Amino acid sequence: MKKWMFATIVIALLLTITIFKLAEQRGWIASDSGISAADGIIQEIALQSSGQSLEVSDEELYSGDLLLVNSEYPIHPPGTQPDVTKLFGNSELTGPAALLDSELQLSRRVALKFVVMVDAAAQDGVSRFLISSGYRDEREQSRLYKEKGAEYALSPGYSEHHLGLALDIGSTEGTMAEAKEGQWLAKHAAQYGFVLRYPAHKVGITGISFEPWHFRYVGLPHSVLMQKNDMVLEEYLNRLQDQSSISTTIEGKKYEVYYYAPDQLTKLKIPNNRDYALSGDNRGGLILTVYP
Ligand SMILES: [Zn+2]
Repeated sequence: MKKWMFATIVIALLLTITIFKLAEQRGWIASDSGISAADGIIQEIALQSSGQSLEVSDEELYSGDLLLVNSEYPIHPPGTQPDVTKLFGNSELTGPAALLDSELQLSRRVALKFVVMVDAAAQDGVSRFLISSGYRDEREQSRLYKEKGAEYALSPGYSEHHLGLALDIGSTEGTMAEAKEGQWLAKHAAQYGFVLRYPAHKVGITGISFEPWHFRYVGLPHSVLMQKNDMVLEEYLNRLQDQSSISTTIEGKKYEVYYYAPDQLTKLKIPNNRDYALSGDNRGGLILTVYP
């Protein structure tokens, strides 16, 4: 091999490693997530055939943890979590995190999951979290939209914040792209059911610029599947729609996920004696998650 060719290869390799390390440091890509190599691998399975039939109501089609709300799919009224509650004065719902203002609201169930997550971060010495936004009604979104413009806020009806499942998390130590809090969450949030909803390398798909502060609760196993397979919610739902039924293992526990397109809803079977959850995708489809 010619010397110059060898040198070029070495330089290219070093450059790739440097860029990768930098991206990792900044939390643009996740690494060392606490998710083992065996976790979140997608396996195809057969469609659930035994169990009870269930007639799906519109209420069920437009509620749940996996609703896609973006510039194409506005929220439907059942989409807002029924347990949205004020966080201020409820330390069991905020843990070590500070609140930007006393009016902040979030789904109580999601707030409890958030506390488990930030408690785990505190164990790693990362504890300067600040919740800056949670549930927003259309009036508040409208005010934000008028005040900050389309660059910063989606128009009312089209923001994930209407669900009560999304929150903006900051750090009192600096910007989330650089602070330890942002880096910790980018790596570990998936273990706790949350996803970084608008990563830098998915702007072409989400249509939203990199928001290192915006986290969305989707629950297990979905968060781990999304992180492990590098998919944002748009891509994940398409993948489920394509594959119909998959299983995955997380920390030794097996989950099953079934997708029913609008014309397949009559085939829905609820497994006997198993814990499960239903969620619409806000596009007329339905996801059945069967827990270990
Ligand atoms: Zn947000």
